[in-house]
Amino acid sequence: MQNIPLVLFGVPFHNVTFEEAIQWTVDRVRSGRPGVIATANLDFLVLAQTDPELREVLYEADIVIADGFPPVKLAPFYGPPLKGRVTGSDITPMLAERAAKEGISIYGLGAAEGIAVQAMEVLKKRHPDLKVAGAWSPPYAPLDKMDHAEILRRLEEAKPDILFTAFGAPKQDKFNHMHVKTWNVPVAIGIGGTLDFIAGVQTRAPVRVQKLQCEWLWRWGTDPKRLTKRYLTNIAFLMRAVWLTLRLKLGRNVPAQIDPSAPPHWPEHGVNYHEFQTLEKLPNELSGKVVIDLRNVEMIQSDEIGALLELSKRVEKVVLLHAGSKVRKLWEFSKLGDRLPLVVTCADALAALK
Ligand code: UDP
Repeated sequence: MQNIPLVLFGVPFHNVTFEEAIQWTVDRVRSGRPGVIATANLDFLVLAQTDPELREVLYEADIVIADGFPPVKLAPFYGPPLKGRVTGSDITPMLAERAAKEGISIYGLGAAEGIAVQAMEVLKKRHPDLKVAGAWSPPYAPLDKMDHAEILRRLEEAKPDILFTAFGAPKQDKFNHMHVKTWNVPVAIGIGGTLDFIAGVQTRAPVRVQKLQCEWLWRWGTDPKRLTKRYLTNIAFLMRAVWLTLRLKLGRNVPAQIDPSAPPHWPEHGVNYHEFQTLEKLPNELSGKVVIDLRNVEMIQSDEIGALLELSKRVEKVVLLHAGSKVRKLWEFSKLGDRLPLVVTCADALAALK
């Protein structure tokens, strides 16, 4: 499976189908190395705009799946298309079915009191061979007030292969991120309200409504008090995203002024300099402190941003020099500057790398 994500509005999406994400999960369980999956919908894009911690969580997730139509519809304007929507509420029962076949155990964590147990019972009834390692709905509390020690103790005792974390976004994803480096859970996946759907306390939209891409309207109708503010914010974000897309497609690019001292004696400063052209020409061997010069690039595609994001995980630091106005606009909107800062002059680049 290709692991360079497509970065859309600052959120990395891995271009996988349901089957590929499920196979990845099975392989990861077999490897025993803990990993996390985030199921990112439009709300994640919105939350990530103002939440640097969530952005980090998403950058570091092993797989982020596109749980909604907006990223799928907008992807082709920014690079390769996404293969399709991979929803958390659909992949959860599919994972349970595959787990039953593979002898893999699952654990349901979260939702209101008793719901996780009910949901696991429903799945067990559907798949009698399914190994349910456990289920628990801890008392509602903000992330920093939760009894993490008690949750970890239960997980340590149950030793699940797949953990379904259902605290809602972004709490569930921050929770998984907090513990992935220290616990022994091979795959943890944030699934939002899915335990409620499986237990039958919330009903999903009829398939017809889902096919019309209006599931969100259905949810809004069933829980207007909680969801009105969220959906209005999401719609406003979507309109801004479409407006940005039009400006980037139809507007004029103003290239950056080239710093006449570039490239200076980068090796003297222990800096690796690379003039970016295309993803294929991005060398694998870059290391240490890296300056990527964008002087001849009008726009960076979503997979190219994904590759730069991956590079930023591998090396000490990456900065981008000489970005034109379109890249700047995209960066400003996507808040990518924490990981991939844009700099104007070589002196700024050296300062940012210190
Ligand atoms: N929930 C929880 N702990 C909390 C807050 C929420 O377990 O502190 C559960 C809630 O009961 C529901 C799920 O998290 O089952 C959130 O569902 P929602 O539909 O809001 O998911 P989102 O769309 O936010 O991912």
